[in-house]
Amino acid sequence: MTAVGTAGRIMVADDDPALLHTLELILRENGYEVIPVPGGEQLLTRLEQAAPDLLMLDIMMPKVDGLQLLERVKQDARWRDLPVLMVSSMPPEEAAVRSLGLGASDFVVKPFRMREMLARVQAHLRAGQELQRARREARTQAQTLDILREVTDTLQPEEIYHVLARRVARVVRVSRCSIVLAGREADQGMVVAAHEDPTLRNLEVDLRRYPEIRRALATRRTVLVADVATDPLYADARRAWQHEGVQVTTRSVIAVPFDVRGGQQGVCFLRTSAGAAPLTEGDAAFAETVIKAAVSAIEKAYDFEATLSDKRRFELLASMDALTGCLNRRALIERLERELDRARRYGFPVSILMIDLDWFKAVNDTLGHLVGDAVLRQLGELLRREVRSVDLVARYGGEEFVVLLPNTATDGGISFAERLRVRVEQQGFTSGLAPLAVTVSIGVATFPATPGQTVDDLLAAADQALYRAKHDGRNLVRR
Ligand code: GH3
Ligand code: MG
Ligand code: MG
Repeated sequence: MTAVGTAGRIMVADDDPALLHTLELILRENGYEVIPVPGGEQLLTRLEQAAPDLLMLDIMMPKVDGLQLLERVKQDARWRDLPVLMVSSMPPEEAAVRSLGLGASDFVVKPFRMREMLARVQAHLRAGQELQRARREARTQAQTLDILREVTDTLQPEEIYHVLARRVARVVRVSRCSIVLAGREADQGMVVAAHEDPTLRNLEVDLRRYPEIRRALATRRTVLVADVATDPLYADARRAWQHEGVQVTTRSVIAVPFDVRGGQQGVCFLRTSAGAAPLTEGDAAFAETVIKAAVSAIEKAYDFEATLSDKRRFELLASMDALTGCLNRRALIERLERELDRARRYGFPVSILMIDLDWFKAVNDTLGHLVGDAVLRQLGELLRREVRSVDLVARYGGEEFVVLLPNTATDGGISFAERLRVRVEQQGFTSGLAPLAVTVSIGVATFPATPGQTVDDLLAAADQALYRAKHDGRNLVRR
């Protein structure tokens, strides 16, 4: 995020002290904050400490190789979006080609033509900020999907505000977050959820004590108070606190207003403690984006619920996993109970497959959660496509699926599992970029392996078999 109050923070690594000095003066004069790194030494540590918005890096320095440094910077995920301008006194041709290949944004030649250099700095700073904004939006989108999924899984209106408070607190990284609805009387508010106190429900509060909430409700705009101890908005409140001898433990607050269906107005209220760093405009903008997205996700969930006219469709939704469209865990357990009852009565065998993606954390870590979600969705589709009409596919946990095979003994279960394993291995999962190779490990368990087996026993047996498949090297079927 751009440093508050300047046009941007620029780190300059160069071994020429005179040039470093001149550059520093000119950039400062143009409103930039400058962090000089003489000779380029300890550049990576300095990057970590200062988190600049742009880096100017000399190619030729006596102690370090600029191109090698560039390569190391660009290999680090933290700096992949950082615009880097390479600086050199060499004829640009070859070095320029190499730097651009290594991820540099541009190339400037010494001696500088100052106006051109400044124009490039400005252009690349803007590009870097755009990229950051895009990434922030992608992150918000992923969060929205998560929220939507959790909300549709719950379907309990009273829980929705808790989901909202918890999610916003987690995403914005603030320890205290509550949802306050405007009451019927003026100055009356109702705290319907608080992240810091999950048991809290419908606590009436006097809004005269909360000038930021009142202002957010009155103006319909986000209110940021960086420092409660000095902001004029709190003049009255501070007097009251002093009068009552109240010790105030809050440093900053953000109040984001939102509308709910039926004209109800609410505020999402975020606070940091006295010792914490103050909240910034950037935090307020981010909180606003997340809350907007979350509220619209919640409304979509309500709409969905409202259109469920008959019981059957409602049951369907309640038993469905929102991401993959497979059965959810609760529904699976119900079906398993029923299936085992039948199996006991009629003496049929039942097999289950416990399927777990291999190294899936790495997919999330390298390609992002959205791609991870797309893989889960595609695996769900593949499994449903492959099974017989009497079989059931459920998402058992985060990246674990269970396939229920009625009337199937161990051998049949294993050969079906093996076929699935190969199908997954052969399928190119689309990651949005290139086809992604994905494999699964599968544990197979069959009823009645031991008489009197319960649903839990059967699931545990499949889980142990899965563990063996992982232990033996993954992309394997074990029983
Ligand atoms: P292995 O099973 O082969 O041992 O490796 P793994 O990477 O799968 O290990 P682990 O079981 O610890 O990690 C599971 C990961 O699945 C962790 C989590 O990031 C991811 N995950 C769980 N649920 C979801 C989800 O709904 N969406 C996405 N994108 N990822 C999920
Ligand atoms: Mg797992
Ligand atoms: Mg896994």
